[in-house]
Amino acid sequence: MSQQGYVATPPYSQSQPGIGLSPPHYGHYGDPSHAGSPPGMMKPAGPLGAAAPGGMLPQGPSPPGPHQFGQNGAHAQGHPPQRFPGPPPVNSAAPSYAPYSPSTQSSYPSPASTASVTQLASQLNAMHINSYGTGMAPPGQGPPGPPSAPLFQGLPRPPQPSIMQPGSQVLPPPPTALNGPGASPLPPSTHRQDGLPGPAPLNAQYQPPPLPGQTLGTGYSPQQAASYGPQMAGGQLSYPGGFPGGPAQMAGPPQLQKKLDPDSIPSPIQVIENDRATRGGQVYATNSRGQVPPLVTTDCVIQDQGNASPRYIRCTTYCFPCTSDMAKQAQIPLAAVIKPFATIPSNETPLYLVNHGENGPVRCNRCKAYMCPFMQFIEGGRRYQCGFCNCVNDVPPFYFQHLDHIGRRLDHYEKPELSLGSYEYVATLDYCRKNKPPNPPAFIFMIDVSYSNIKNGLVKLICEELKTVLEKLPKEEQEETSAIRVGFITYNKVLHFFNVKSNLAQPQMMVVTDVGEVFVPLLDGFLVNYQESQSVIHNLLDQIPEMFADSNENETVFAPVIQAGMEALKAADCPGKLFIFHSSLPTAEAPGKLKNRDDKKLINTDKEKILFQPQTNVYDALAKDCVAHGCCVTLFLFPSQYVDVASLGLVPQLTGGTLYKYNNFQMHMDSQQFLNDLRNDIEKKIGFDAIMRIRTSTGFRATDFFGGIFMNNTTDVEMAAIDCDKAVTVEFKHDDKLAEDSGALIQCAVLYTTIGGQRRLRIHNLSLNCSSQLADLYKSCETDALINFFAKSAFKAVLHQPLKVIREILVNQTAHMLACYRKNCASPSAASQLILPDSMKVLPVYMNCLLKNCVLLSRPEISTDERAYQRQLVMTMGVADSQLFFYPQLLPIHTLDVKSTALPTAIRCSESRLSEEGIFLLANGLNMFLWLGVSSPPELIQGIFNVPSFAHINTDMTTLPEVGNPYSQTLRMIMSIIQQKRPYSMKLTIVKQREQPEMVFRQFLVEDKGLYGGSSYVDFLCCVHKEICQLLN
Ligand SMILES: [Zn+2]
Repeated sequence: MSQQGYVATPPYSQSQPGIGLSPPHYGHYGDPSHAGSPPGMMKPAGPLGAAAPGGMLPQGPSPPGPHQFGQNGAHAQGHPPQRFPGPPPVNSAAPSYAPYSPSTQSSYPSPASTASVTQLASQLNAMHINSYGTGMAPPGQGPPGPPSAPLFQGLPRPPQPSIMQPGSQVLPPPPTALNGPGASPLPPSTHRQDGLPGPAPLNAQYQPPPLPGQTLGTGYSPQQAASYGPQMAGGQLSYPGGFPGGPAQMAGPPQLQKKLDPDSIPSPIQVIENDRATRGGQVYATNSRGQVPPLVTTDCVIQDQGNASPRYIRCTTYCFPCTSDMAKQAQIPLAAVIKPFATIPSNETPLYLVNHGENGPVRCNRCKAYMCPFMQFIEGGRRYQCGFCNCVNDVPPFYFQHLDHIGRRLDHYEKPELSLGSYEYVATLDYCRKNKPPNPPAFIFMIDVSYSNIKNGLVKLICEELKTVLEKLPKEEQEETSAIRVGFITYNKVLHFFNVKSNLAQPQMMVVTDVGEVFVPLLDGFLVNYQESQSVIHNLLDQIPEMFADSNENETVFAPVIQAGMEALKAADCPGKLFIFHSSLPTAEAPGKLKNRDDKKLINTDKEKILFQPQTNVYDALAKDCVAHGCCVTLFLFPSQYVDVASLGLVPQLTGGTLYKYNNFQMHMDSQQFLNDLRNDIEKKIGFDAIMRIRTSTGFRATDFFGGIFMNNTTDVEMAAIDCDKAVTVEFKHDDKLAEDSGALIQCAVLYTTIGGQRRLRIHNLSLNCSSQLADLYKSCETDALINFFAKSAFKAVLHQPLKVIREILVNQTAHMLACYRKNCASPSAASQLILPDSMKVLPVYMNCLLKNCVLLSRPEISTDERAYQRQLVMTMGVADSQLFFYPQLLPIHTLDVKSTALPTAIRCSESRLSEEGIFLLANGLNMFLWLGVSSPPELIQGIFNVPSFAHINTDMTTLPEVGNPYSQTLRMIMSIIQQKRPYSMKLTIVKQREQPEMVFRQFLVEDKGLYGGSSYVDFLCCVHKEICQLLN
């Protein structure tokens, strides 16, 4: 970071001594001298300061119901409390949630009849795909002839008049291709299901076509209903392979060999590569309102020039529609994915810290927005008009500055809060609990010492690792040692507290057997400074594995463990984080006791949602308490059977913690992954006891929130902690008209306690455009953020809605968004043409990946716990993580250039892209696979594994051997680059072609038809296209 002072903009290259900003103030975690802010108060505030008294949001909505879990979002007045309301009565009055008015019947009845297959074939024959870069059709486009516009990929391609030419055929793959023994020679997207044992077709549950006249478009205004509604009723045409199709639908009929050419439909890889080619490696300056940033997959240098970096905030669209009618018409979600503590690369400027001393931050008197580039100074600098609520405020005397000839303050470029999108404020005591400076946070390590954990060596592993990792507790940049105190608890069905005070020769253990009413048996000596107590702590960590070596205790408690940690933090009057290492279903008699209620029979029924709900409300209440006391819970789970992740994971989720899960943990296979996660989690940047508030300019407001959050009212997003990997997705709705000239402004303020115990405010500002033209809206969309939003809203809805309904809603909304574009933005063309806006070219493929995720579509080999786990992970993901999670990265390793450090260009996630002479690496953020074709080049096998042939490769390894040659080094370097920015350590699985574990790997080839259901990309695109045609008819 710059030590020269706040670097002005423009020109950013020129550094200026900041006014009121001496060098130590800069940077992420600034000068410890700020810690003791002068006690002068401007005005009293709510318990957390930022939660100011009434009047901050005059038209604030009423609080939600008391049951917060799963609906912890605020809801607009008069809106139903769930994003996915239950199926409404047919023809009911239009709710304002147009996008989520589910049908009462499937639009994709199945199975396919011969007639429908024919219909598909004829439709495909007539179907043209085209896309117009700017949302405008090129001239001369005439149906149904060959389109002259560029094809999806946008790169030079051989002339290709349409994706389906009558009579063209896709030949079956050559017999030596990837089919493996027993595979049938059907076309690529269909052959895999053959010969595989599968469950009964999932479509068995789907209803026959609806009654004529039934409409789905209940959410539309009459005007729209006229154009959209009735057509939705159809569903008359069975759609082979249409989502959510059963596995058998596409099989068989030979006429289906006429298939879409996968190369002619939009390729995610092409979109990613195009963006890299045009924007990669460049400086992206955030100086203009409403500009769409580079994709998350593009590396560039971001320079804050008045709007928050896309690393902090990404939006589903950077141009909001002016009216709510227009928003309803397009059905594009208006949302921001906010990662307030995102890691900033070392070549970008860290956040500046602004300190106004006892004056505190300058805020609008009416809406309490913080000083930012959107405030307009007037009257010679004596007053300023708030960009959010338009209130005219007096400039406080200490803050006065003259204006220049264009009405800008003379110190504009010297004050981060006037010229930057993101910065931090030192908070005054107003912003502290009880108006007292906070104590530094504490970490409490809580180890399950029941029989199995001792026996498999896990307890010993944890204790050994803690000795090293405690040396790396996070600290403020300027400080020598960490201010974080540490404490230790072990437990099975009772709790053991340890006194590790530095003056003790031996640690002391205190046992709490009353788990119904947990109390903290010692205060002094429980939370200690690691450096001071190092020898006692090491002594303890050496002793713990032996202390319980003879224990036969199998039963554990869980809720009392969290309770104990929280009470200890409460007693010490500090925020903190619990690291819980747990293995089993907590069946011992205690609050939060759980029973095995896993029931596969619920799958594909309306009761499936129960599997995602906690089985007792104890954890919900506990989470609420934890958030109230700034207690974040991170859980490391080592299950060997069902442990009810939906219940155990609730507190970690709602307290901003992280859930790590290692199934059937085996020391030699899994310890590296676990240890990497533990180290990373302890060291990561984190803010405690946080409260986030989203302010918006007039005309719209935040109505729903998704993430590791807790909400006691409709506006304050409370987080026991928030770390650099956690994102909160916020949905916005209109409450009035937006004006094109003033745009739509968003300010995210996070009040939090640093790891050093300083109270800070982190501010992110973003300005978006507004338009009354739908084309502008579509032009400014970002599909990666849209998918993040859709995933979170759908995964939240699984707690309340049948999955079938949710999937239908997603499909319908996708079609609606695209149909609206087609109808209003594209120039006239043949109805059979599928026209996608440039910004949404890959929406269908990504949406299909979301629909196929095991949370929304159960698969027999995926456990209930795994589904609950993935559901929870996605709820806090940022855009880059959700992009990779839903569309994995697949790299051809055999093409590796060992002289280059660049990653090879990824390929599409489809079996047809693999080759048996190749080696491929696949990563999705949780897992990594190295897939080896049966004819992999021996020199590569030798180079990577140091064995003579394919047959000699041991697939049990989870790390590659260090072989001293370029192949090995380059591959391992690539793997570490892929791993680097990801929050979870990815476990490596070696997969040999045609061997059993390949089935798991294939689930990640997301463009293909799922083994147990879920459409191929091609089929889904046809399905969406058909839906669009119906909407347009
Ligand atoms: Zn205001």
